[in-house]
Amino acid sequence: MRVNETFLSLQGEGHFTGTPAFFLRFAGCNLECPFCDTNHQTYHEMSEEEIVEEASRYKPRHIVITGGEPALQLTQSLVDKLHEAGFFIQVETNGTMPLPERIDWVTCSPKGTPVLKDVDELKVLFKGDGTDLSIADHIQAKEYRLQPLDTGNEEQNRIILRATIAYVLEHPRWSLSLQTHKMLGIK
Ligand code: SF4
Repeated sequence: MRVNETFLSLQGEGHFTGTPAFFLRFAGCNLECPFCDTNHQTYHEMSEEEIVEEASRYKPRHIVITGGEPALQLTQSLVDKLHEAGFFIQVETNGTMPLPERIDWVTCSPKGTPVLKDVDELKVLFKGDGTDLSIADHIQAKEYRLQPLDTGNEEQNRIILRATIAYVLEHPRWSLSLQTHKMLGIK
């Protein structure tokens, strides 16, 4: 499997914010979003056994499988091996490809044309007034989160954050998701 990186950190976003976790970042994506901050070129090969062994070196039993797009590589056998090792499995996906069964928590940040219809958490980037949120009418989720887009420009980010808060207050189906790992200066 092509792995971009693995690391131990706190989940920075969404429902499990603050949760200690082992991160498995698969290399490669089926989309090319202009704002993507993932390096898709760098990877090393790891077998499923090596991934489980590496994850098991650390104390947390929460694994965040992300990318790139993890659905390109994630297999049922890796999911089952991680469960056997006692992991709670969270997957962060763009929603455009089917996933293996028995994943404990699916966080979908929809991009492109999603095929997933039922997830645990739908996390949509909010770019300000006029952001199209109609995707929420097509994907069932337990939780709906709006995350202000990080433009890389502080003033612009402040404006978007204020707009996101205002939107959530008016539309309480949504709640705010912040990229707390960036605030904390951790990975
Ligand atoms: S779907 Fe995510 S990982 Fe893929 S290109 Fe878009 S932002 Fe990057």
